[in-house]
Amino acid sequence: MPVNIDSYKKISEELASNNVTLVAVSKTKSTEEILELYNLGQRDFGENYVQELVEKHEKLPKDIRWHFIGHLQSNKVKLIAPFISMIHSVDSFKLLKEINKQALSNSRIIDCLLQVYIAKEETKFGLSEDEVKKILNEIDDTQILRNISIKGFMGMASFTDNLQVVKQEFKFLKALYDQYSQSSHHSSLTILSMGMSADYELAIEEGSNMVRIGSLLFGKRN
Ligand SMILES: *Cc1c(COP(=O)(O)O)cnc(C)c1O
Repeated sequence: MPVNIDSYKKISEELASNNVTLVAVSKTKSTEEILELYNLGQRDFGENYVQELVEKHEKLPKDIRWHFIGHLQSNKVKLIAPFISMIHSVDSFKLLKEINKQALSNSRIIDCLLQVYIAKEETKFGLSEDEVKKILNEIDDTQILRNISIKGFMGMASFTDNLQVVKQEFKFLKALYDQYSQSSHHSSLTILSMGMSADYELAIEEGSNMVRIGSLLFGKRN
């Protein structure tokens, strides 16, 4: 299926006027397809698999901002640490410590989002509200993780046609985000990454400022 240029133009304009950042999710898509959007000005791309991301990063222009949005294993962090722009899927303190370590050895500070579990499904990764609190407290108390910067939260809503359910999940994450980002302690929290092809409009209504859209731009994945 070809890249949907019209859809890209419409969505990117709509998002820009709402000050929402578009992460174009390019997992399973070719470097040629990615370049089609790159040539229209798109710079933020999201990938789920480490090996695939490393190969694409090598082949594609170096001013692309790569977002890692899939489940990340600690032992793979070192492969993306030299270049990754933002990791959306931090779901443990252990992973955060490893990101910090690899960022340090690359003399970088890596931006991270805490992935919060908001769906009703068992299969989605992420932290509970209590775990978020614990991690943020631990970072504040210890002040040891100087090479990571927590920028906000990421969440994935339930895979359902019931928009009321999805809306409640987004509301929950927005409330958690407001609670932390508005405290003077956590003023570096400025990003709320929620919304995908099926629910991005609803996510923006509920306060998202970063959406991750794949199939609406690149067509369905196999
Ligand atoms: C694949 C993926 C997306 C994009 O999904 P679409 O429905 O194709 O827009 C967004 N976020 C995450 C975490 C994903 O894995």
